[in-house]
Amino acid sequence: MQFTRLRLAGFKSFVEPTDLLIEPGLTGVVGPNGCGKSNLVEALRWVMGETSARQMRGGEMDDVIFGGTTSRPARNHAEVQLLIDNAARRAPTAFNDASELEVSRRIDRGQGSQYRVNGRESRARDVQMLFADAATGANSPSLVSQGRVAAMINARPFERRAILEDAAGIGGLQARRKEAEQR
Ligand code: ATP
Ligand code: MG
Repeated sequence: MQFTRLRLAGFKSFVEPTDLLIEPGLTGVVGPNGCGKSNLVEALRWVMGETSARQMRGGEMDDVIFGGTTSRPARNHAEVQLLIDNAARRAPTAFNDASELEVSRRIDRGQGSQYRVNGRESRARDVQMLFADAATGANSPSLVSQGRVAAMINARPFERRAILEDAAGIGGLQARRKEAEQR
């Protein structure tokens, strides 16, 4: 699965709708301190199903919504869309009938968030699984935020195993097994 476009609106500092085209190969994002580079990575993490506000550098999830500046009022919702090339048909069965997947997540202040895949409402878990199976979930080691390297070094063996499982793309499988065992 290849990510081809990230679209943000009302998300953190990206108040106006913004498209980021992701071409094949390496993409670099450069800019001065505070211009929103980390916010972009967080948008990616968020649309893939991040549930921890702390991972988003906020106190609560509503903090991802543009909070206003001296010259601009705050917004009441934020939306992130991720376009994925699924021509190789690597997505889980439930989503695999389309050659392109548009995953979106929208949050309304005080009302929580909602996911859609190609316009159809989806559960958070299904979106998380979609990415876990592709070895690129919100928690995957392919997203390394500041402080994460030290955390990995200090992790206990079973925590480090979970990181390796996510990297190997079997994180989704393990989550399903755990669910089945609890039934
Ligand atoms: P650095 O190079 O220092 O790492 P950066 O490019 O990664 O900087 P970010 O951390 O992505 O910058 O962006 C920080 C900016 O985003 C700050 O100006 C902050 O005020 C703004 N910001 C974060 N959350 C919101 C929000 N909810 N509403 C409005 N602005 C926000
Ligand atoms: Mg940063």
